[in-house]
Amino acid sequence: MNLFMKNFWRRQFIGIFLGSLIFFLCGCGERKPVAVQTTDTAMGTVIRQSLYVTNGSTAAADEVMELLEALDQETLSWRLETSELWRINETAGQKEAAVITEEMAAILKSCQEISEKSGGAFDITIGQVARLWSIDTWAAGGEPRLPDEKAVAHAVDRAGYRRLSVNEREVCLPEGMQLDLGAVGKGIALSHIDSLLQQHEEVTGAVISVGGSILTYGTKPGGGSWRVGVANPLDTSASIGYLELDGGWCVSTSGDYERYIEIDGKRLHHILNPYTGFPAESGVHSVTILTRDGLLSDALSTACFVLGVEEGLALAEECGVEAVFVDFQGEISMTAQMEEYFHLSQ
Ligand code: AMP
Ligand code: MG
Repeated sequence: MNLFMKNFWRRQFIGIFLGSLIFFLCGCGERKPVAVQTTDTAMGTVIRQSLYVTNGSTAAADEVMELLEALDQETLSWRLETSELWRINETAGQKEAAVITEEMAAILKSCQEISEKSGGAFDITIGQVARLWSIDTWAAGGEPRLPDEKAVAHAVDRAGYRRLSVNEREVCLPEGMQLDLGAVGKGIALSHIDSLLQQHEEVTGAVISVGGSILTYGTKPGGGSWRVGVANPLDTSASIGYLELDGGWCVSTSGDYERYIEIDGKRLHHILNPYTGFPAESGVHSVTILTRDGLLSDALSTACFVLGVEEGLALAEECGVEAVFVDFQGEISMTAQMEEYFHLSQ
């Protein structure tokens, strides 16, 4: 063997040795994901995050909170003068249409489609009606009071999704109409969170709830499915059952226990019948929707609540989503496919 060949084999040997060492060290250095749990508030609701993170960092959880604040402030809030929705609502009754972002155009178009499919049970043009009920002040306590019936009827007349014209660039609101994205905002947030987590390699799995909407992401350490509880509307500290899911699902619940006031022993909740302007009385306590799309899950939970069991199930099937209803008799009804995911509590 000449000197050149000797050096060649020495180099090969050193290369293989170093390669194996790096492989071995990396294997040892691969850290198991650790749980990071946070509870906070944003978008006027409670945000619960349960993430599995390989480096134990809270960076992703912090970014989720920043994202939710920004989404509310810049796009969805009807309350904040900084938001696109506020700016749109300001143009009601003006000759000039409001110029909108691509994202807002997509949101409004999706909402319009769901309004059509639900026969108007879901309708984001009921903003003025919702204001009359002062839903956002209910949590703060104070003496609950009924809105003036005539004012409600007047606001109902001025609402109506068919009177809203939207295209890719503009939206035109007639006089007296106000938009309210409260029924879809939390679902929209889930899709944003999903995209954000995908940029964080250190996050291997997560379950994040934004109010009544929950996202499953990635995988559970050690394998197995995520379990998402479905609250018992008559005792929200307990659940009627749970969904067994892999990552990438959105679960939204609309229930008469979430926000309500009581007047003369009658519960008045926050999900309104757009035709009457009063809380929907469809015989259900709650509806839970399961689908991969955040906006759809949130919008359909509201729509199906207003429609009730029979029509709601038909709408869910038509839209290709899964649904669980709990009615006033305590009976549970669901779409055929939902049985694959839903398990009753023992
Ligand atoms: P959710 O909890 O997702 O069912 O949304 C309820 C919120 O959406 C309410 O607080 C209102 O702001 C708004 N809302 C109420 N009723 C309707 C409806 N029928 N269609 C669309 N938005 C509604
Ligand atoms: Mg909803």
